[in-house]
Amino acid sequence: MEAEMQAFVDSLRHNLTAEDVVNLEACMNCKMCGEACAWYLVTGDEKLHPTHKTGLIRQIYRRYMTLEGQIGGALGLVPTPTLADLKENMQYFWACTACGRCTLACPSGISIRRIVRLARAAYADSGLSYANPTIRSIIENTDRRRHSFGLTAAQVLGRVGLFLRSEGLEAPVNVQNAEFLFVCPAAGNTKIPDYGIKLIKILNAAGVSYTISPYVIDTGTEIDHIAVHHKLSKQMLEDWEQEADRLGVQKILLVECGCDTRTLYAEASETLGRPFRYPIVSVDALMLDLIKQGRLPIEKTHLKVTLHDPCYATRLSGLGDLFRELLNLVTDNFIEMTPNREYNYCCNGGAGGMRLPENTATRRKISVLKANQIRATGADFVTSPCVVCTLSLEDTCQTYQLSPSGDRMALVLFEVVYAAMEPALAKLGELDRMRVPAVLRNRDHEFFIAHSVEGQMMRLMQQPDFPELLDWLEQDDIVKRFSKDHPQVYDDIRALREMVMNCENCD
Ligand code: SF4
Ligand code: SF4
Repeated sequence: MEAEMQAFVDSLRHNLTAEDVVNLEACMNCKMCGEACAWYLVTGDEKLHPTHKTGLIRQIYRRYMTLEGQIGGALGLVPTPTLADLKENMQYFWACTACGRCTLACPSGISIRRIVRLARAAYADSGLSYANPTIRSIIENTDRRRHSFGLTAAQVLGRVGLFLRSEGLEAPVNVQNAEFLFVCPAAGNTKIPDYGIKLIKILNAAGVSYTISPYVIDTGTEIDHIAVHHKLSKQMLEDWEQEADRLGVQKILLVECGCDTRTLYAEASETLGRPFRYPIVSVDALMLDLIKQGRLPIEKTHLKVTLHDPCYATRLSGLGDLFRELLNLVTDNFIEMTPNREYNYCCNGGAGGMRLPENTATRRKISVLKANQIRATGADFVTSPCVVCTLSLEDTCQTYQLSPSGDRMALVLFEVVYAAMEPALAKLGELDRMRVPAVLRNRDHEFFIAHSVEGQMMRLMQQPDFPELLDWLEQDDIVKRFSKDHPQVYDDIRALREMVMNCENCD
């Protein structure tokens, strides 16, 4: 057997649990799962049917992991999948968001998403998934920089620092003994850091004790759910724990990411081989508590908004009621889409749907189901407690012209909370509450500089590569988007450049 094939089989054997054996043995090939899968329903492509993916893994399992298969295979009575089969079919394991909807339609309750994850892990362990440039870059970036898009901590914090400056805000970095460690998934700090500023304003306004880490800048969503590289995924979880130990925080704050919700609420123990050592609080649960405790003033918005349930947070982690309770507190115009909760259709963006460019055309095509769901509500906005869902929903809204070109229709759930908070603070004359986090209030200048994003910027300025960071920021698409409402951001970049040049001249 070729080395890659052997590594693939070894990986399957190593990761297989009793539950997976049932998932592989119990299929009756009735094909009902296809009726729940958007990828098959819309395209009618048999290769996108859930059973096409599971069939190959079942064959490998039978051939190499059952006595009948080993004897039958040697006699040529049982098919022997080849390396060429693995290579030819690899693409289909990523034409799937591992959303779990197919399981609802299966009379045996088979978890196809678990089989898909087993397969992705085997593709990673055998090295075959390196043939896909996106998966390869996720693995290499995570290994090298601990950020799946390959950004450095300086780029992540430098960009956030620039945005905070423009709004006269602060966020805490590297503070000891805060209540929460706040780590944003790479998709959040790479794709929507400008929208994320609203979440920082909410935490500041409510007086939450939190800190950002100067080192841990990605939660590991993509390595866990797209690449399914268990070794690196484990290291990412251990990084969180070590950083939480170092900073002396009490809990981890899960920023809005459906995949992280699934990882931390349900799958971390399997990855680590023991429970995750810190309590996990999703930011939506926190905002709900803050509002109920009266720590976050709100005035209900009249936004006509519908909710997209992320598969990983609702169907697979059971948080659907929490999102509705929160949404009903902050808007008086919430409209359910149909179907909803665990029956909701996937946004088609998570676990590789959005990240792999080869999926884009199919993803847009199958998102007609999601577009029709949103259109039928008559809502002006669609919200989701997941960054990737929101990005995918926005793409769907634009593709199907649900909103005028360029007008955002998809909002992250914290943006709806923000829309309810800002007028309430304005009415109280307390908009300033958003500016400074609780852990930086009433501290001396030295502490402030040591633990603020502004102080972080000043330290970055002393690095020899700061001019390159400024060049990068100037070219950055997210900075360009932010500059539409904050044109002074380029004045800030210019001013920082001049300050560095003056300092160089001083030397
Ligand atoms: S997990 Fe979701 S995308 Fe994958 S086969 Fe099942 S329904 Fe389709
Ligand atoms: S619905 Fe279940 S039993 Fe039927 S083909 Fe799909 S996975 Fe197999």
